[in-house]
Order: sequence, then structure tokens, then C-alpha cells
Amino acid sequence: MSSFGRDRSGMVQKVLDWRNRRAWLQHVRWYAKPLLTPKLVAALERRKPQCWSDVMDWLAGHEEVVPDFCDRMSSYYTHLKAFHGCRPESLSTYYEQGLQGQDANSIILKLKKLFADVPLAELDKAIEKMQHRESSEKGKTWLSGDDREMVRGHGHYIISGSEYLLALAAKLGTGQGGEEDYRLRLRTIGIPTVLEVDIPIDLVPPAQKLEVAKMILSEWGQLRTKRPLDMSSSPCYVVRSDIPAECIKAHYHPARIHDFHHYITTYVNNTQRCECCPPSPCNGIAAS
Ligand SMILES: [Zn+2]
Repeated sequence: MSSFGRDRSGMVQKVLDWRNRRAWLQHVRWYAKPLLTPKLVAALERRKPQCWSDVMDWLAGHEEVVPDFCDRMSSYYTHLKAFHGCRPESLSTYYEQGLQGQDANSIILKLKKLFADVPLAELDKAIEKMQHRESSEKGKTWLSGDDREMVRGHGHYIISGSEYLLALAAKLGTGQGGEEDYRLRLRTIGIPTVLEVDIPIDLVPPAQKLEVAKMILSEWGQLRTKRPLDMSSSPCYVVRSDIPAECIKAHYHPARIHDFHHYITTYVNNTQRCECCPPSPCNGIAAS
């Protein structure tokens, strides 16, 4: 299809961009037409069920299309576009090494550097309290299918960086008893950043691909039944392997981010340029 681009070797890259609903609804016709039969459409138009994405019983008798639909979707797209919120001190390592999964040891080193004035015993206590998350989160990278939703709804990664580091800082103190709110110190280093990443579809775990397939089927069903559920949600991805640097397509530094950890609910970011920003003031994707 002409709307898809090619990579450096000339291979067509078919990217699912969740923000472009019209495009992915059109793509359904290309890869799933034999599954979504006139009989199924007629049944939906007659019964007009609510087409949720978590419970697929609205497909009454046709639930077997779900895994087939997922397989076809996964074969059709080569990449899933997603966004990673972060607050790095420099973006150059991302562009050199790609996105590397969570590493508690490097986060702990950062903690000790940033909170060098805090007694070591207190730091060790906080580190120990977080140890239960260390192995379960090791090597993972979290991404969101829609950057606008991330900036509005879960922008704390952009404001404070790693959630693991944020949780460690919270263990040191959140300002409740009059002490310093240590979380706010994370805002004094790094640059609030959104990375635009085209994840190779093979790196996305099967269960997450199935979730995306169900979300697309749900939207398709709502169109057929003309019963919109008025639910705004986008896929979330947890990738368990490194994502190569060439998958990073762009980045920007949002000016305003919804802030759940402060009495002022809008975080204003005054650093909107970094050494990795393209020379033009236009970064190629819309800053929020
Ligand atoms: Zn930049």
C-alpha cells in the first residue's frame, strides 16, 4: 500500500499507528476480509451488541475469528508505532544503542549519585524495599500506543523518568511529614522526552498483539453495529528485549504534561531542545 514507507534496504514497512484510526480500520479490509464474513456482519447489524474489547462474547458463535484475526494482523504489519516517555540526561545513548530494558543496577547508581547527601542506610533501606520488583521488571521497556494519551494520562515517566527510580525516591520521603519530597529532585536532572519508536512486531509479546487485535475488532464491531462505546484507550506495550536504535524515528520534548504528583496539575517544561534535536525547530512530530 502506498501509505507505507520503506526502510533503507527498500523493504516495505507497514506500521500500525494507533493515532491514525481511519488508516488501521481501512487496513482491516486488506488482511481480514475472509474472516469478517457478510453473515457475521449481518448478525451484528441485527443484534447490535456492545462490542467490548475485553469480552468478545458479542461475536456470538464466531469467537474463533479472534486468533485468526490476530495472526493476520501480525503478518500484515511489520511494526507497531509506540512512544516511550523518559527523562534522560542525554539522548545520544538512545540513538547509539537503542532502548535497553530496565536495569535496576544502573538506576540504583543514579539514585546514589542524586541523593548522595542522604545517609547510605536510608538509601539501602529504600533499595531493599524495591527488590521484589527488580527481577520481574528486569530488561523491560514500557511504551504507549498514543503519545497524546501518555502526556495527558500517564506523563510521570516524562516528568520524573523511570518509575522504578520514582518509587525509590518516594520510599525516601514524599514530603508528608514536612521532610523533603525527594521525588521532586528527579525533576532537576535530564530532559523531559517522548521517543517515537517503531517496534518490530516480532518483539511484541503474543498476549499484547492479541490485545491490539481485540481492540481493533472492538472498533470494527462498533462501526458495524453503529453503537459507539465512547471509550478512549490505546495499546500499551511491554517489550522484554532491547529495541535497536534504528527503530527510534523521532523525539520531542513536550511543553506541558499533566502532573499527578504535584498540587500544580500541569508540569511546564522549559527545555524543549537538546543536542539530538534536528536543527530545524520543527521536530517532525507534533509537540504537545
Ligand atoms: Zn531533543
